Amino acid sequence: MATDQYVFDYVVVGAGTAGCLLANRLSADPAVSVLLLEAGGQDDWFWIDVPVGYLYTIANPRTDWCYKTEPDAHLANRSIHYARGRVLGGCSSINAMIHMRGQKEDWDHWASLGNPGWTWQEMLPLFQRLEDYEHGAVDTYGSGGEVRVEDPRVRWEILDAWRAAAGECGIAPIKVFNTGDNSGCAYFQMNQKKGVRWSATKAFLRPVMNRRNLTVVTQAHATRLRFEGRAAAGVEFRAGSDSRYAKASREVILAAGAIGSPQLLQLSGVGSGKLLQQFGIPVVHDLPGVGENLHDHLQVRMQYKVSGVKTLNQMVNSLWGKAAMGLEYLLFKTGPLTMPPSQLGAFARSDPQQPTANIEWHVQPLSLDKFGDPLHAFPAITPSVCNLRPTSRGWVRIKSNDAATYPEIKLNYLDTPEDRRVAVDGMRFTRRIMAARALAKYRPEEFRPGASVQSDKDLEKAAGELGTTIFHPIGTCKMGQDAMAVVDERLRVRGISACAWRTPRSCRASLRATPTLRPTRSPRKARAWCWRTARVRPPPPALPAAARACAGGTARRRRTARSG
Ligand SMILES: Cc1cc2nc3c(=O)[nH]c(=O)nc-3n(C[C@H](O)[C@H](O)[C@H](O)COP(=O)(O)OP(=O)(O)OC[C@H]3O[C@@H](n4cnc5c(N)ncnc54)[C@H](O)[C@@H]3O)c2cc1C
Repeated sequence: MATDQYVFDYVVVGAGTAGCLLANRLSADPAVSVLLLEAGGQDDWFWIDVPVGYLYTIANPRTDWCYKTEPDAHLANRSIHYARGRVLGGCSSINAMIHMRGQKEDWDHWASLGNPGWTWQEMLPLFQRLEDYEHGAVDTYGSGGEVRVEDPRVRWEILDAWRAAAGECGIAPIKVFNTGDNSGCAYFQMNQKKGVRWSATKAFLRPVMNRRNLTVVTQAHATRLRFEGRAAAGVEFRAGSDSRYAKASREVILAAGAIGSPQLLQLSGVGSGKLLQQFGIPVVHDLPGVGENLHDHLQVRMQYKVSGVKTLNQMVNSLWGKAAMGLEYLLFKTGPLTMPPSQLGAFARSDPQQPTANIEWHVQPLSLDKFGDPLHAFPAITPSVCNLRPTSRGWVRIKSNDAATYPEIKLNYLDTPEDRRVAVDGMRFTRRIMAARALAKYRPEEFRPGASVQSDKDLEKAAGELGTTIFHPIGTCKMGQDAMAVVDERLRVRGISACAWRTPRSCRASLRATPTLRPTRSPRKARAWCWRTARVRPPPPALPAAARACAGGTARRRRTARSG
């Protein structure tokens, strides 16, 4: 049992996309104290800033939790690497930086399920308030907010040709996504500033590190929430070999992501009673939806060799190529080092019966076997296609009552006939684009899965062999009113802290606005993203000196910010 006790008004678990924003908004009121706990370390590593650094941060324990999924029958019984950021900034420090708000119909559908306040019309001004588009307030984007949005700083002839080929197949070129209807083909806009990653830390945390009422603790792994009755009282965490406890006099806010948040709830006694009893955890609240309903975008990574054109493969595999890219980046902050994995995107219907665009391509001027592996030596591209509205569902369930043991992550990818159908349709659509006139001069040659794979059955099998996550797990703390919902539309854990309390307005706005940084292509993603348990208590006590001392790794930065 942790004995060290610190008292804050708000204790936020997880300094990822949501946690950084919340820490910023909550600590804007100097009268309240905020503690932000992050299991990972500082984000001061070179490869976090350089956009192409995702090749080094993914599958690296320095920045990634390095989870593994359970083998899936329809994924050729494979278990796959499941990247999640474990560092200040969370996934926003290792992600692909694509700025995507999602589609209007998805938000509206989500609101219609009993979640008032979440329609596209209501979300749009919140997105705009957060954005800082490099061209100002045009193209529906906002200007002057914290989230920098910029155009790509590198162009590839082969991607321009792919865009023209998509146009031949009925996917019209458009200027920007994010207008509510994403149908079309465009270059992705990114969360970057002048060629450097613009993570949630840079947007929301660094500018406020000098606030005296904000304490950020890195290398602090939250292991359990403590409850008084049905009200969350605080968070136990491990800092190095020490066990500590931080009491929350107002709220505990969980922003530990789609894997970490349900795991922590289950460890704390909130979840399916049957599951918790298996591990001897006393049930605080039997809430069966915790960790269930996991779903994700499965990308089917078809790959094509091309000729007579530059791709990243040749550049990375040549000393001169690497030197040229490095020099261009150092001098101008342009070129391939500024690129996220995918620069060109396209949205379409996998078949005409679909009401709106339900598949998306991420087109990459490169190829590799899997993230973490070297790029191939020959010129090639990867027009990966994913189903935006998968119907297969999985779960996140603890495997032990020890917080250090990773939970079971079961996706059940391609479990439903509908998902297998969309995967096959998406692959056939990709082939039509690759066969279009605009790409003919590059003599594309499909090597994954290969031209011999033709029947629906074989394509289904190939989708299972080539498919992998595009890193968008959601749904494990579903928002709504039904029996499997975990939070209500104001993101309060259902059944916990039933007392009538009032959320500060600024906090509510933040909570609703943060999906900007998330892959909101499917609105269901946002359901899992951030939620909280709460209780109201008397006025906040002063911040104890001991709590400041526990800031550890952040103390240096805090002083720097002050002196600057
Ligand atoms: C490789 C990759 C590429 C992606 N590409 C894009 C993209 O291009 N565009 C886009 O919009 N989205 C993308 N995403 C998804 C997007 O980054 C995430 O959906 C979003 O960052 C999630 O925000 P979050 O705050 O919910 O969780 P996270 O950002 O995951 O933050 C959770 C934080 O909580 C911490 N944590 C977890 N458990 C504990 C604990 N017990 N104690 C203390 N701390 C804990 C974690 O270390 C982490 O820092 C990508 C994700 C990945 C991994």
